[in-house]
Amino acid sequence: MTATQLEFAQYPSANPTKEADRAAILANPGFGNHFTDHTVVVDFTVDAQGEGGWGNARLEAYGPISMDPAAAVLHYGQEIFEGMKAYRHADGSIWTFRPEANAARLNRSAARLALPQLPEEVFLESLRQLVGADREWVPSRDGESLYLRPFMIATEAFLGVRPAREVSYRVIASPAANYFGGELAPVSIWVSRNYARAGRGGTGAAKCGGNYAASLAAQLEAEAHNCKQVLFLDQFNNNAVEELGGMNVFFVFRDGTLVTPALSGTILEGITRSSIIQLARDRGLDVQERVITLDEWRDGVGSGDITEVFACGTAAVITPIGELKDGDEVISAPDPSAGEVTMSLREQLLGIQTGKVEDPHGWMTRL
Ligand code: PMP
Repeated sequence: MTATQLEFAQYPSANPTKEADRAAILANPGFGNHFTDHTVVVDFTVDAQGEGGWGNARLEAYGPISMDPAAAVLHYGQEIFEGMKAYRHADGSIWTFRPEANAARLNRSAARLALPQLPEEVFLESLRQLVGADREWVPSRDGESLYLRPFMIATEAFLGVRPAREVSYRVIASPAANYFGGELAPVSIWVSRNYARAGRGGTGAAKCGGNYAASLAAQLEAEAHNCKQVLFLDQFNNNAVEELGGMNVFFVFRDGTLVTPALSGTILEGITRSSIIQLARDRGLDVQERVITLDEWRDGVGSGDITEVFACGTAAVITPIGELKDGDEVISAPDPSAGEVTMSLREQLLGIQTGKVEDPHGWMTRL
């Protein structure tokens, strides 16, 4: 039996970052470069009766993890993670967006990777603990946030291939500016023909490290062709569009319909994606989750039926997609001046997250 609530022991850092050093980092945080002073850890163990449970919850100083070289995560990649943000609102209060959805997705990923379920309340408390200790690290300028990275790793030292009986759940945090850096500009996309990200029955719908390791060769290919992101296709289904390396994709049609690839088990169910579907439906727009192929993309942009294409995710929020390179062929972006739906959804979503516009669905949670 797993406790749904845990007491977190407090071992604050004896040597926190000096204020001037933190200020220098916050002046130019970049993305994923710097980490706050603390981390949260919760351990999962299995007792002699074979009963598993979470315990030893603690807030401690950020630092290297000491792990047995035989730890299962290092060999078989039994690992999952989440990505979310904490925002500082104008009154100084700190909020996060739909954390219950991240908790639920972490547990869906855990089920797929044969890792233990983490009670939602422990997940939420882990965020409160970390942000509570590192509040000064939450940036306050427009477009900035504290990126939160919860993750779960198999720490048991055992080289047989079976689910580990010792697991560690942790959270780290990193002050973040705009993911793509600088001003919002359309991202260029490389169509991955040589590499797939996921297959039927695979781990595409889970947020596990292996998916990202498997996407890197495609990302290198993209960079070699001057593209920022990779588009993965379902090569067994007429080149149906799946998703980008770290973002979901939406198409806006001339009649106002939004289309996004259906959740087929091979793509990640983005929390930004679900939120956009909701916000668009609130506006009375027709949103279709269905198969959309590369041919439909090419023809739709060509005929003017598709007026906008955008990518979405926690890191990038909503970002227009620019040109698409498929080998030697270039599918140009729709006319960027027509990016109305993209920009207005972006403004609404960012407004909700930063406390500047109404939160009609109660998505924000104060930390
Ligand atoms: N797809 C992939 C592969 C991702 O890594 C992410 C980022 N988590 C997303 C989609 C978008 O998900 P979310 O909106 O929850 O950030």
